[in-house]
Amino acid sequence: MKSVTDNLIFWGTRGGLPSGDVASAKYGLATSCVELAVSDRHIILDAGSGISLFGKQMEPNSTKAIDILIGHFHYDHLIGLPFCAPLFTGNQPVRIFLPELDGRPGIKAIDKLLSPPLFPITRQMFADSVHFHSFKPGETLTLSPDILVSTSLFPHPGQNCGYRLQKSGEDILCYISDIENTGATTLDDVIAFNKDSTHLIIDSSYTQEEIKSRKGWGHLNLGDIEFIAKALPDVQIFMYHHDIFKSDSQIDTDSKQLLSKYTNVRIAQQFEKIQLA
Ligand SMILES: [Zn+2]
Repeated sequence: MKSVTDNLIFWGTRGGLPSGDVASAKYGLATSCVELAVSDRHIILDAGSGISLFGKQMEPNSTKAIDILIGHFHYDHLIGLPFCAPLFTGNQPVRIFLPELDGRPGIKAIDKLLSPPLFPITRQMFADSVHFHSFKPGETLTLSPDILVSTSLFPHPGQNCGYRLQKSGEDILCYISDIENTGATTLDDVIAFNKDSTHLIIDSSYTQEEIKSRKGWGHLNLGDIEFIAKALPDVQIFMYHHDIFKSDSQIDTDSKQLLSKYTNVRIAQQFEKIQLA
């Protein structure tokens, strides 16, 4: 049987806040959310405002499973959850995987954000087909007999969990948003975690100049991306989690030198669909 092509779809590429105007529309206005669409399920990485766009285009009668993996609980990675239509229709089995970060169960963060007076919708209003699963980073998640997900902690205020997706025994995608280069081994850890993945989606919020005044904010800079790109020449790297105050032309200008030097690096664009072999 001919194998079905897997698609990578960027539903949200910004960090911090869903914001911007037409001058920043190419690189995206919605916050973190990436889909890996495989034959039997939608695998969703983070539930920023972009997940509302994923839900909006879903066929109402679809019964295909949805697995949502949350990297951490800052609101730019969660705010789309109560706007994701399939969580309310009940037609599709939905699993939401929550890492334990800083010793705290993730469900507490969900209940804090999704409760009055911060928001009128609580998780009890989701359909019965929605289930939450907690795990400790370092564990391997089995989404199906065919799909395994390795997990690992990375430095970010409050910690962040990175994911490596393996399908039919092959590493295909590594997702790390957000991460700051805080120690001597941070970037080596990223490179080692990526292992044999062919695609890496990673935080690239700042320039090397900007990071000087933004230490502790939890993000990488373009110098870090260059280090990773050099070490992983065969990996397609997507720069992701763009700063909300940057226009498309500013991001292009900032990245120009890096992109001309490393053909394995590109800038993630909202609504971009990539066919994985
Ligand atoms: Zn973020």
